[in-house]
Amino acid sequence: MAELHLNIGTIAALPKAQLDTILSRLREKGYRTVGPRIRDDAVVCGPIAGLADLPQGLTSVENAGQYRIVPSGNKRYFDITPGAQSWKQFFFPPRVSLFTARKNGNWNVEKPSEPAPQIAMIGVRPCDIAAIKIQDMAFMRDDFTDPLYRDRRKNAFLVAVNCLHPGGTCFCDSMGTGPKAGGDFDLALTELDDVFILEIGSEAGKEIVKGMPLQPADASLQQKADQGLAAAREKMGRRMDVRDLPDLILKNLNHPEWEAVAKRCMSCASCTLVCPTCFCWDTQDHTSLDGNETERERVWDSCFNPGFSYQAGGNTRPNTRSRYRQWLSHKLGSWKEQYGVLGCVGCGRCITWCPVKIDITEQVAALRKEARS
Ligand code: SF4
Ligand code: SF4
Repeated sequence: MAELHLNIGTIAALPKAQLDTILSRLREKGYRTVGPRIRDDAVVCGPIAGLADLPQGLTSVENAGQYRIVPSGNKRYFDITPGAQSWKQFFFPPRVSLFTARKNGNWNVEKPSEPAPQIAMIGVRPCDIAAIKIQDMAFMRDDFTDPLYRDRRKNAFLVAVNCLHPGGTCFCDSMGTGPKAGGDFDLALTELDDVFILEIGSEAGKEIVKGMPLQPADASLQQKADQGLAAAREKMGRRMDVRDLPDLILKNLNHPEWEAVAKRCMSCASCTLVCPTCFCWDTQDHTSLDGNETERERVWDSCFNPGFSYQAGGNTRPNTRSRYRQWLSHKLGSWKEQYGVLGCVGCGRCITWCPVKIDITEQVAALRKEARS
């Protein structure tokens, strides 16, 4: 059989066992291979050595405030949607040291010297690919680039997995971010029963699969993948009507719904911590008792934390109503003005992991119902 000519955009059939070869080639190139693992009855991002570490035959049942792992009834490896963790932890760690200052006569400042880790992320969902792109806009801007983020991002290898089994809180179809990854990956997989359909997305991806026993994906395989993706769009657990969205939110800043949601919201910040696009942070200094050494760390923060909006003279968002409104009106309103896109990719995490079942799609629908134009 003629060898398949590989290029960016090439689509091929990959025998499932060959994913192990891809993983070992990535490790030979120095990458840590990380993918979906089960821990404490939930999916987390953990080290994977091969197919045997993936959650084969499992899926997740999700609804507002609910998450369960159950058997899927088949032997696929990627039928499970992501858990609370997203990939942002690898580019924008929850806690990272910025520098340590030591007084030895004069003050000396040392920055951490470890190189950014090289991580191959296996099974990145299309919504999360879109979220990474959004975080790139925040951390790698023309006027300022965060070196910690940039170095981690530069060292990453992304293997996307298109979603044939969306979760009950997913609505990526509404947001135009899934269930098929639109680019910005090194390799993308669509998992059928017996084979992966592989798409090459970058030169680095092409290099990794060079010489592997790839076959052209014939029309019947591609048709199965397309049918699976069409069915996934139909099965999306949630939808969000995004028509006139920045305007809808920004013209309704005094809508009574903000008061109603504030009666339920606990300002716990869970939604912002699980959100793959939220990027707010704070700095904390840890100083030794003798005052001769201090370390400054960057830590995740949240617009739901009262201290986040504390300024000299008082708090500009003194209650949950103003904090929830800030979160939603940034995500679905002013974010568009800042970055040209909405700040929500429809991953559904904030719905699943909200302890009081607040649902961003319902909040938008409530504003729409009695919108004041
Ligand atoms: S919306 Fe839910 S998750 Fe977010 S702060 Fe309020 S209670 Fe917590
Ligand atoms: S706002 Fe909610 S659904 Fe949208 S990207 Fe963040 S966690 Fe996902």
